[in-house]
Amino acid sequence: MIKDIKGLHHVTSMASDARQNNQFFTNALGLRRVKKTVNFDDPSVYHLYYGDEQGTPGTVMTYFPFPHMMAGRPGVGEVGETQFSVPKGSLGFWKDRLVAQGANGIEADTVFGADRLRFSGPDGDGFALVEAAKDKRTPWLADGITEDHAIRGFSGARLNLHDTAATAELLQFMGYERAEVEGDVTRFVIPGGNGADTIDLAALPKTPFARQGAGSVHHIAFAVENRQKQLEVRKALMDTGYQVTPVIDRDYFWAIYFRTPGGILFEIATNEPGFDRDEDTANLGQALKLPTRYEAYRSQIEQELVPLAA
Ligand code: ZN
Repeated sequence: MIKDIKGLHHVTSMASDARQNNQFFTNALGLRRVKKTVNFDDPSVYHLYYGDEQGTPGTVMTYFPFPHMMAGRPGVGEVGETQFSVPKGSLGFWKDRLVAQGANGIEADTVFGADRLRFSGPDGDGFALVEAAKDKRTPWLADGITEDHAIRGFSGARLNLHDTAATAELLQFMGYERAEVEGDVTRFVIPGGNGADTIDLAALPKTPFARQGAGSVHHIAFAVENRQKQLEVRKALMDTGYQVTPVIDRDYFWAIYFRTPGGILFEIATNEPGFDRDEDTANLGQALKLPTRYEAYRSQIEQELVPLAA
């Protein structure tokens, strides 16, 4: 069994409009844009990262905004809900704020004893704000959002699946412990995690498969401390029969990817080197950062990308 996974690292989704995406995550949700770069496989498209001050693993929501991308169709075989941790008593503030921002799908519920506010992102992305009493993470404070309300990072994510058995086994191999069951949903928790500690598996045997598009999660990444731990995790997964990619340098972390039995793309990402490797913490996310191999094409790339608000 693997013992080196520390919870979530980041969640990466797709969007149809970079400016709208940037506005929603920095202004409405009050996250900090910690990196403005491009999709390393398609530099005509941004890769935008939003999180806490440093982009600490477990706080980072990232997007590929493909201009005019068709909306995805929610279903099974994907991450159905990405969950953010907020302080107790903050949901009233968030409801008012999300209504004022024109967010759709705002609905209160209680899941595993926690009060939550579900809402949709600009492309129908499934999100929930989850009240937590004991989240010690330091939030980024954006305009109009105080410490009493600010998002602390992810609490977890819900995976929607036809059948949860094989993914449950995988999560337990990855170090997660089966915690509670509520209706169709089984909760798994990682001991000693970074705060983004829960994965919920929803068993939805009659739901059709998702079609990926704008608003869909592209992949979900789990954190390991460093490259050495990542190699150990890679070997353990491969010894168990998973097809895992080689280690890929993503400039701000190293990544390996594998497809889970339920069809969801998992990544294991390192906490090193972090988002301050090529710009000061004070200025994170402002300048367009390009991987070295695209520097020669900077002016063309800049012309293709729509400018974002600061
Ligand atoms: Zn990733």
